Amino acid sequence: MSGLGPRPHVAVIGAGAFGGWTALWLLRGGARVTLVDAWGPGNARASSGGETRVIRGMYGADRVYTEWVVRSFELWREADRNWGQRLYRPTGALWMFRRDDAYARSSLPTLAEVGLAVERLDLDEALRRFPGVDLAGVRSVYHEAEAGSLAARRACQTVARAVAADGGDVVTAAARPGSTAKGRMDAVALSDGSPLAADRFVFACGPWLGALFPDAVGRLVQPTRQDVFYFGPPPGERRFGDDRFPVWVDFGERIFYGIPGNEQRGFKVADDTHGEPVDPTTLERTPRPENLARARALLAERFPALAEAPLVESRTCQYECTPDGNFLIDRHPEAENVWLLGGGSGHGFKLSPALGERMAAWVLEREAPLARFSLERLSGLAETPERGGSQFETGEGS
Ligand SMILES: Cc1cc2nc3c(=O)[nH]c(=O)nc-3n(C[C@H](O)[C@H](O)[C@H](O)COP(=O)(O)OP(=O)(O)OC[C@H]3O[C@@H](n4cnc5c(N)ncnc54)[C@H](O)[C@@H]3O)c2cc1C
Repeated sequence: MSGLGPRPHVAVIGAGAFGGWTALWLLRGGARVTLVDAWGPGNARASSGGETRVIRGMYGADRVYTEWVVRSFELWREADRNWGQRLYRPTGALWMFRRDDAYARSSLPTLAEVGLAVERLDLDEALRRFPGVDLAGVRSVYHEAEAGSLAARRACQTVARAVAADGGDVVTAAARPGSTAKGRMDAVALSDGSPLAADRFVFACGPWLGALFPDAVGRLVQPTRQDVFYFGPPPGERRFGDDRFPVWVDFGERIFYGIPGNEQRGFKVADDTHGEPVDPTTLERTPRPENLARARALLAERFPALAEAPLVESRTCQYECTPDGNFLIDRHPEAENVWLLGGGSGHGFKLSPALGERMAAWVLEREAPLARFSLERLSGLAETPERGGSQFETGEGS
């Protein structure tokens, strides 16, 4: 390992949730930082580029993710205080199980240990507390108090502004990895033709990571199509605003989830099932009619007052899935000063502030990285056709 000077220069490629927060923590850790993005922070193609994301503590028995959520709750609150924003909306979360609720049950001891409140509600109590929901077919319900939603795209832009305010360089350019010699990379090539040299590189390129590093990553990070729908409640209908209604997850044959209110942009409904592989650069982002039909059917069943609600907006995004649903955070096997960061697998956004904090400590060699996120643990899994399950069932020991 080559020694790091007192103020190493780190180039972070990708200003999504992972790269933005990592850049900010690197600056806070004393590094000089250049944050590069091909289309800018929270752009329409990025996985972090949607309007909202769920934050919740339930992660099965997984200690690492649960602790990162606890830390992220703190950091999202701090971000709102420091930056005068409302990125985090504490709506609570309603977890509805039509099937075995083992995932929720396995989460309870860990949540109790870290102090995140979750209660099991009987169905009548849930109906009383959350008017507008129909619990047909539901066997058990849990309510998680601190859960809520995050303003995703706006958060990426706010974090990038904080990076610039703290002295980082924020650059709009596409970066191509440079060649590696003697186990290191000296520079990346920017799309304006200039080289960008640095002591360390972090490639936080979300769904592009596999294409950028076909040999080291390739199919280990698979972008999958995800259609998201926003339905308009009837005029004057107030039950489904985020001041009253929680984010919700419905565990049936498929897992659907949604976010209320969303700054008056409609009631969000999404199917968490992984769609077909896509290319995030060229994908024509028109939602599939069959996905809209499924979302409508769920809406009619679970929220009957919205059965006739028109579609007011939609988005086609992509997850960037690893075979086991866990993140990929490791050095490039042929360049010790290059870090690969990604594989959010549909659940990375909420954790990005805490992940960025750890990532900075790893890149600056103040802590050893966790083996559970290594490239090595994925070896042999690359050709597994089944991706790493649902974002709502991820976690070791679950
Ligand atoms: C529909 C949907 C719903 C989700 N729901 C949730 C949820 O409820 N809760 C949750 O926690 N997570 C959720 N996620 C997952 C979460 O949003 C992602 O895991 C997370 O945003 C990934 O962030 P990232 O920074 O790794 O990737 P990205 O946001 O994609 O950022 C990568 C960036 O790299 C840039 N880039 C790529 N290649 C280059 C290059 N060569 N040069 C320069 N720049 C480059 C891109 O422009 C992009 O901005 C969801 C994701 C989707 C799509």
